[in-house]
Amino acid sequence: MEDQTKISRNKVDEANQDPKPHIAVNKSLATKYQILEGEMRKLGESIKCCICTERKKNVMFLCSHGTCQYCGDEMVTCHICQKEITKKIQAF
Ligand SMILES: [Zn+2]
Ligand SMILES: [Zn+2]
Repeated sequence: MEDQTKISRNKVDEANQDPKPHIAVNKSLATKYQILEGEMRKLGESIKCCICTERKKNVMFLCSHGTCQYCGDEMVTCHICQKEITKKIQAF
């Protein structure tokens, strides 16, 4: 009789142990969220014209960089990669 009680107690103890896998999941979720937050910030910056930083970027050059329409009108070479701007694409 005594032995049986011991065995069943051990089983309960095992079930209550090891919450570690849950912590690991939460940690990786937090990291993912941080990465996502960083990406969102980058996206927000990329939408704004980086010359006047006021207007929305809506003109793209062939080098895949861009400015707002006002700054783009004046541009001869790309402000980021210094490539000659041969074509301006209205993005929005
Ligand atoms: Zn601008
Ligand atoms: Zn460029």
